[in-house]
Amino acid sequence: QPTLVWLRNDLRLTDHPAIAAAAERGGEVICVYIFEETDALRAKGGASLWWLDKSLRALRSDISSLGGKLICRKGDPEKIVPALVEETKATSVFWGRRYGKAEREIDGRIKQALQDNGIDARSFNTTLLTEPWQIETGSGGYYKVFTPYWKAVRESYEAPSTLPRPEKLGGMGVNGERIEDWALHPTQPYWSEGFATMWTPGEAGAAARLSDFLDHGVRQYEDMRNRPDCDGTSGLSPHLHFGELSPVQVWRAVKSRIDSGLQPESSAWSFLSEIVWREFSYVLLYFNPDMGWENYNPKFNAMPWKKDSASLTAWKKGQTGYPIVDAGMRQLWARGWMHNRVRMIVASFLTKHLLIHWRDGEDWFWDTLVDADPASNSSGWQWTAGSGADAAPYFRVFNPITQGQKFDVSGRYVREWCPELKDLPTKYLHAPWTADPETLKRAKVDLGTTYPKPIIDHAEGRERALTAWEALKEKQ
Ligand code: FAD
Repeated sequence: QPTLVWLRNDLRLTDHPAIAAAAERGGEVICVYIFEETDALRAKGGASLWWLDKSLRALRSDISSLGGKLICRKGDPEKIVPALVEETKATSVFWGRRYGKAEREIDGRIKQALQDNGIDARSFNTTLLTEPWQIETGSGGYYKVFTPYWKAVRESYEAPSTLPRPEKLGGMGVNGERIEDWALHPTQPYWSEGFATMWTPGEAGAAARLSDFLDHGVRQYEDMRNRPDCDGTSGLSPHLHFGELSPVQVWRAVKSRIDSGLQPESSAWSFLSEIVWREFSYVLLYFNPDMGWENYNPKFNAMPWKKDSASLTAWKKGQTGYPIVDAGMRQLWARGWMHNRVRMIVASFLTKHLLIHWRDGEDWFWDTLVDADPASNSSGWQWTAGSGADAAPYFRVFNPITQGQKFDVSGRYVREWCPELKDLPTKYLHAPWTADPETLKRAKVDLGTTYPKPIIDHAEGRERALTAWEALKEKQ
């Protein structure tokens, strides 16, 4: 009596509650991936498709080394899952839960239909430490502020013990589609060639990155996490998004280092608190299913956002004339990823200096980030724009010059991504227009030709944003 395990954003075999439960049941375990084509779901962005393509190939090979086959199908899951049950004579279908509204509705209908037909359809938590409804405030309801949420998780969370990796998988006799035929990998435009220099999608790549971070990064995390010039963060976000690694595995690994005396302990806890930011974003998404497109704080519905496609394009292309902003946007394009500090700087620049709606920025990130995530992306944007839960206040306008000087201290980050500025002395690097003509000439920088002049004056942009905010407050 076979069990189908429908894998979605939990593309791993180790420590996978649905796979482990299927294996324990006995009988053939058949892993299925469905590329969902339905209008109800937001289409994946180009960078996510690049990752998915590679991750599925890695998973296919891992499954094959256990004697099985990853069954891939494309189309409407509400038709495909019952058809697969019929074809394989499966009596159980297991999967990991998803937390977006449309996904929950689809999964709920499928579960109901299967159960109506006598199939044991069960879902599991495969991607979070704790599910959004599990941790409540003292007075009931979900946490809307991060710090007490983090405190509650830190005090109460105990990672469950590791689940065994299956010894054998099935599915050999079942027909599937070839991942190659899906042509997920975007070729028009073909911008993703640089991604492979940074990333190894798949469970093995995720495990290697975690182990490297535990050996070399976690001790310095607290000091280095804000430094885009120092590779001070884990780079685990796409692996976590695709579930090649679960936060439970991360928690367990870090906690065991803490228990064996890792110093400074505060650095490891600071890293775990970021893992819990991800959880907090899922809490917000679960209880505010429209968070990807609606302001969490409705006050922002009256914000006089500007329609300014020329500035939006300059921002996307890394041509704003502010080196730290441009470096970040170019890193995003070339690697499918951007450092968190720089994400905040570029998002603040878009929503404040340029007064462009956070949704335009969220959309661009959705298409270009390999870790594009419905919960973390919208909460990151709304946090920076000021419209989110526990958000940075709108009047906190990041200064792209001093942020660059403070966090890209050595200038390594800007020099890497804006090589046309590499010969500028560090003291001018984050504000090239302040250099005297002789220095600019020596560095072969011709502002307006080799590198843009600022598309908006910092003080002017800041004032305009604050005036819009004041007007908004008065309207309430
Ligand atoms: P580390 O510092 O090593 O952190 C470890 C893990 O904790 C990350 O992999 C991630 O899963 C989680 N994490 C860290 N910071 C945050 C945070 N602020 N919010 C939620 N989770 C966090 N993260 C995404 O995973 N997907 C997104 O689409 C996304 N969009 C963002 C958009 C904006 C405007 C901003 C400001 C932040 C966004 N983030 C997003 C959060 C954060 O920038 C990334 O998670 C982080 O940069 C990933 O790098 P890392 O794995 O090296 O992080």
